[in-house]
Amino acid sequence: MKHPKEELTYVMIKPDGVRKGLIGEIIRRFEQRDLKIVALEMFQPTHEQIDNHYPKNPEWITRLGEKTKTTYEKYGYDLVADFDTDDTSKIGPEVRKWLVSYMVSSPLVKMVVQGVHSVDVVRKIAGDTMPYKADMGTIRGDFSIDSPALANKEKRAVMNVIHCSETPEEAAHEIKHWFGDVEIYSYKRFGVDE
Ligand code: GDP
Repeated sequence: MKHPKEELTYVMIKPDGVRKGLIGEIIRRFEQRDLKIVALEMFQPTHEQIDNHYPKNPEWITRLGEKTKTTYEKYGYDLVADFDTDDTSKIGPEVRKWLVSYMVSSPLVKMVVQGVHSVDVVRKIAGDTMPYKADMGTIRGDFSIDSPALANKEKRAVMNVIHCSETPEEAAHEIKHWFGDVEIYSYKRFGVDE
């Protein structure tokens, strides 16, 4: 069992975050909350790396399709007109493709963030997946208004500034995927560790 201060999470600043000039602002918000940046790099991902980052299991892909269908129903849009089908197992892969092409469209910034409940706290600082729903004061709520209604109409992924792991297990998997055996740094923060 790790010390509570040693919990790690994985964060990636997405193309809209990089292109809006939010790299510093995002890091500032994590550090302000006494979280520690213990690995950090800008890089251009390959199509294959992004494809392997997002889950490939049918449940995850169908869930993406179901979310899309729910949005269409909520706003009264015509799902079949846009996708030629209302089958969520066929819509899911389409949305996943949008996501992959969006994520390779600019350099990204990847980082490992450490601290007490870092997985949950980083998701709280990030805000709701859908920026139009995200609370003010969260990264997504302060810097984006994107919605699935708009993104689906424009046949692209929802632009929500950052990606962050959902569970400590997912974080471990993503850190391994994106940083491999690269060193996770160790240092003491004033006022946090001493
Ligand atoms: P996250 O963990 O908060 O990033 O959210 P998910 O794992 O549910 O979804 C992955 C990514 O897919 C999101 O961050 C969005 O960029 C995109 N996405 C999710 N749902 C939709 C949707 O209904 N429509 C579109 N166009 N993109 C979506």
